[in-house]
Amino acid sequence: MSGKLTDSHGRQIRDLRVSLTDRCNFRCFYCLPNGEPPLARKETILTFEEIVYLSEIFVSLGIEKIRLTGGEPLLRKDVEKLVEKLARLKVSSQNLKLKDLALTTNGHTLTERAAALKHSGLDRVTISLDSLKRENFRQITGVDKLEETLEAIASAKKADLNPVRINAVIVRGRNDDEIVELADFARSAGVSMRFIEFMPLDSGHEWSREMVVSGKEIREKINQVFPLVLKETSRGAETAWKFAFADGAAGEIGIIAPVTEMFCGACSRIRLTADGQIRTCLFSTTEHNLRDYLRSGATRSEIVEFIKDVILKKEPRHYINDTEFAPASRSMSFIGG
Ligand code: SAM
Repeated sequence: MSGKLTDSHGRQIRDLRVSLTDRCNFRCFYCLPNGEPPLARKETILTFEEIVYLSEIFVSLGIEKIRLTGGEPLLRKDVEKLVEKLARLKVSSQNLKLKDLALTTNGHTLTERAAALKHSGLDRVTISLDSLKRENFRQITGVDKLEETLEAIASAKKADLNPVRINAVIVRGRNDDEIVELADFARSAGVSMRFIEFMPLDSGHEWSREMVVSGKEIREKINQVFPLVLKETSRGAETAWKFAFADGAAGEIGIIAPVTEMFCGACSRIRLTADGQIRTCLFSTTEHNLRDYLRSGATRSEIVEFIKDVILKKEPRHYINDTEFAPASRSMSFIGG
């Protein structure tokens, strides 16, 4: 029998998102509008040793991509050391090995650390950037850091953390007037700009359907000014439809439309929260306590069985569009985006 992780809907799990901390220094209105919820106690947070041990087990079960996230992952001390240990999982005599090690960040301290992170074995970064206007950036994120974020993007490119991806959550009335400008930024900076539909994952529960700008609308707005060409007719387990610019300009557009064009059928993702809970879906209302099981002295093969059992419980799809939709048990900052 294959040791790989397959859920009860036949989906193979290849992608693990590991949240390094529930802390964040930004206050994005679509995530943490009212400040941080009570933070997890330090002793409940997985240590780097625990993360490396569990990651090695996950990779032995077919996980090919690990993305470090948060909260703000670069608020955690010595992330470079963790990256160095995880990067070793890319070298293995077995045919199951890590193929891709990435990080999602708001750019905090990345300007100083991009080269070291690359040197430690990080393959690439995704940086959040929701506005190119200083005041709007401040209103969306709660911090006046547009310049620093732009510098972080330039440093990531310089350090060859490529392809550098930029995440922009588009929300009606907040930054939908900047869609074309953000697309133009992808061209001039030579980055992959990924436009994401606003999902009901905000701690303030302010999300409403009227605030969602659909992927279709985003695509059409860009296409009117910069004609786009679909890169691949299938996106596999990727979340984004990817487009090139028809005029051959540098950069790329990605459209991620989980609300209006659900892609759960091809989902290959699971998440490990900073406090060691497995989440099988962004919108899960239950979690699986891997941390306590690990700390209770479970053997490696018991942990493997625990993980396999959890994977069998992965939800068939999200229920955002159903009338009985219940919001996820925690905000994106805790789950790990
Ligand atoms: N602090 C890092 C950052 O800012 O990129 C990593 C964590 S953040 C939770 C990861 C991603 O989740 C960000 O790109 C953010 O834009 C996205 N995100 C957070 N809340 C969201 C929501 N309600 N809908 C869609 N995307 C969201």
